[in-house]
Amino acid sequence: MLLQNRAIIALGLRMCSTHVSKGPLVDAARPSSDMAEFRKVFSKAQHIAIITGAGVTAESGLPTFRGKDEHWRKWKSQDLATPEAFSRNPSRVWEFYHYRRELVLSKKPSAAHFAIAECEARLRKQGRSVVVITQCIDDLHRQAGSKHVLKIHGNLMETRCVSCGHVTLNKQSPICAALKGKGSPGPDVADAQIPVDKLPRCDKSDCHGLLRPNVVFFGETLDSHILTKVEKELEVCDLCLVVGTSSIVYPAAMFGPQVASRGIPVAEFNMTTTPKTEYFSYHFAGPCGTTLPPALA
Ligand SMILES: [Zn+2]
Repeated sequence: MLLQNRAIIALGLRMCSTHVSKGPLVDAARPSSDMAEFRKVFSKAQHIAIITGAGVTAESGLPTFRGKDEHWRKWKSQDLATPEAFSRNPSRVWEFYHYRRELVLSKKPSAAHFAIAECEARLRKQGRSVVVITQCIDDLHRQAGSKHVLKIHGNLMETRCVSCGHVTLNKQSPICAALKGKGSPGPDVADAQIPVDKLPRCDKSDCHGLLRPNVVFFGETLDSHILTKVEKELEVCDLCLVVGTSSIVYPAAMFGPQVASRGIPVAEFNMTTTPKTEYFSYHFAGPCGTTLPPALA
């Protein structure tokens, strides 16, 4: 938590220490939605940072555990995705994540995922770079073909041993025999109450520790190595896209405004405006699967 706070404070201080101007392109009262103008900026950009959030995941048909699909059984994800909940009831928390893993395995990347991946591949051939900085814990950016992805909230398809810390990619379905057919989300479904030795376990020799999903639970520290990489990308990018995120979860909510404060154009692609829209040069309203492909074509 301390590190996370430090990271947030560091970003915050940086923002406060710079005049948070709206960049040279946005002298008008609000961001532009002029796609032709955006396309001119895009055609000149060498290093593009694309920040993505739950909206991109939702367009693949995955629940975001926010708003109307906030619940799994009678709990909200904030009640389950915590270190306390996991140590109190690892079986229930594993059922929740097993449900989410199985859903991800059944879904395909959306038009927005593909537009981003194709853009990265095309620009790479021209010596230009695209990095995806995502809050999504699913694997859909990589499935779509994105190579350079920084996952600040972890990866649903990875496990981490609570004893030895070993992290590994694991796409097994089900992840262990005891979870087969478990994890149904209905409000009246009873807990499976799987004994802890039947939950996913570490296969490192002599360890056999309990595994957990390698995701950042509420109240946990973000990986400082990944945050350092994100910081570097935000410092060198000459165009930033903020895609499908409500810009309310920190520190990611600050990334776009931080780039804008350097006078770099930032374009937001989202269903609605957000608390950060006013900092940005461009805002394109609508599903990102509709707005993004022509923007990045
Ligand atoms: Zn282990």
